Amino acid sequence: MTHSLVRDARQLKDLLQQTLEASLGYFDALDQRPPATAFVRNPPLALPREGLGAEQALALFMRRYGQAMPASNGPRFWGFVTGGTTPAALMGDWLTGVYDLNLSSAAHSVAPNIELEAIGLLRDLFGLPADFNGVFVTGATMANFAGLALGREWVARQQGKSVALEGLAGLPPVTVLSGEAHSSIFKVLALLGMGRNSLRAVGVLSGDREAVDVGELRRALEQLGGHPCIVVANAGTVNTGDFDDLRAIAELKSRYRFWLHVDAAFGGFAACSPRYQDLMEGIAAADSLTVDAHKWLNVPYDSGMMFTRHRDLQIAVFQNSAAYLGAIADPPDFLHLSPENSRRLRALPAWFTLLAYGRSGYRALVEQHCQLARLLGERIAASANFRLLAPIRLNIVCFTLKGESAAERIQPFFERLRDDGRVFLTPTTFRGQPAIRAAFSNWRTQEQDLDIAWRAMNEVGEPLV
Ligand SMILES: *Cc1c(COP(=O)(O)O)cnc(C)c1O
Repeated sequence: MTHSLVRDARQLKDLLQQTLEASLGYFDALDQRPPATAFVRNPPLALPREGLGAEQALALFMRRYGQAMPASNGPRFWGFVTGGTTPAALMGDWLTGVYDLNLSSAAHSVAPNIELEAIGLLRDLFGLPADFNGVFVTGATMANFAGLALGREWVARQQGKSVALEGLAGLPPVTVLSGEAHSSIFKVLALLGMGRNSLRAVGVLSGDREAVDVGELRRALEQLGGHPCIVVANAGTVNTGDFDDLRAIAELKSRYRFWLHVDAAFGGFAACSPRYQDLMEGIAAADSLTVDAHKWLNVPYDSGMMFTRHRDLQIAVFQNSAAYLGAIADPPDFLHLSPENSRRLRALPAWFTLLAYGRSGYRALVEQHCQLARLLGERIAASANFRLLAPIRLNIVCFTLKGESAAERIQPFFERLRDDGRVFLTPTTFRGQPAIRAAFSNWRTQEQDLDIAWRAMNEVGEPLV
């Protein structure tokens, strides 16, 4: 071992103490930091010949990045759907690094119980039936990947084939039907060899809706003449938080042959509140389901879950049998159930936060964010500077600048607002028009943040209207 590593090992307590101080320094100053900043390239960094040791590495990091790290983990980062980190989740994440345990099999530890328990807690939180098994992956994109890999295998089996064994050659193209699919679905189709063009877009409801027109979906299924396909239902669109009618789509299953994958990356959390759980009604009919943990569960990146009722297909697709790994047990080791083999103890932050805050904690979180979205929506609806583009259905507000040719003014609005440093929003296109999104998903966000952000939005937006 090198000298610096030996020294660091001896000073571990002191080093962790310094890391703790740096962490508290960040949290204490969240309000003084901008939620987002422009990207600036740094001068190149050379690999030192002799290591600096951890203390100096931390000092260098703080000089180089400490001040520049944005408050994206704070209350006014409203871009994308970013979530945050609850104290309990952070504790779980810290311990994940401490144990550095490879949660691939039960051959060497009790740790698979942690993931099984976390999945059980999440099943409870979302009210999923007991026959849904789940697995942690890095996020919703990988959950969509895993779910659609199962759907692809299901479609093949309906035709007496197996993609897992034989590949896609010899199989007619797999049709995927969806309304307002998330961009990651197209990426997944490229990865799975089905191709981005295999997605046939089904019309959405008219007006300000992004939910699929179930009548059109039925016609598209009818046209397939009994040929099996995949339907991707969207439970929470990123622009307006709209939901496909899952119940109506589920009913189509009695007449048409399709695998139902539901992308509920953040929308799945609607099930936490009696006020919104209707939106997830029908989910029990899903064959596979995507939910993100690093969004509304408020655990650190990167964490998401894929749930499915088809464990046999999961094993057929993801099994990783090898003499040195042993036979497939019951329940199967996670390396037979997920795209990755070696995996971190990703379930631990979720386990911590679910037990720390429970059902009522997550209900309150979801309702708080939906209430904030509604309040912002009301201000926008009455505003001289902004125009609301869709009603508030959940935790997302979709709006634009008032006046002509908003297209040219929106980009400057974003950049000035970001550089102002009080709130961060992200641009989008909604029904062909340039738009702005505000998404609430960090547990720290309160009504006072709405006041701060609203002042900033108007001070920056008014000269542009
Ligand atoms: C965020 C999101 C994704 C992609 O999730 P990642 O965690 O970034 O991989 C997919 N679908 C929906 C609906 C999302 O909101």
